[in-house]
Amino acid sequence: MASLTGRIFLAAARRNVAYTPVRFCKMMSDPLDHATGLEKRELLAKAAGNEDPFDMKVFQRGPGTKEQPNLIPSAFDARLVGCICEEEQTFVQWMWLYQGTPKRCECGYWFKLVEKAPV
Ligand SMILES: [Zn+2]
Repeated sequence: MASLTGRIFLAAARRNVAYTPVRFCKMMSDPLDHATGLEKRELLAKAAGNEDPFDMKVFQRGPGTKEQPNLIPSAFDARLVGCICEEEQTFVQWMWLYQGTPKRCECGYWFKLVEKAPV
């Protein structure tokens, strides 16, 4: 009797777990239909081919001189920028960059904020 009860319980447990995710996925529509505001604009930019609409990816520094600073795009007056000054460095040097005032990192590279249209 005990083994029969165990088998019935296991069969009932499997049945409930196996079907739920499949049915749930078929009922959900496209996330683009549910998104609003900034999330929707981000999804539309990604659908248009821009995989990095907020310029969050790491990029390689250029010459970084005072005359040719590394250009950091931003839709705001200021942006927090992280610099990995040396290749084997284990931390990121963070600094605030403001519109109109280029800034020099401790490693000697210059950075300048450039205006970018918001997403
Ligand atoms: Zn640096």
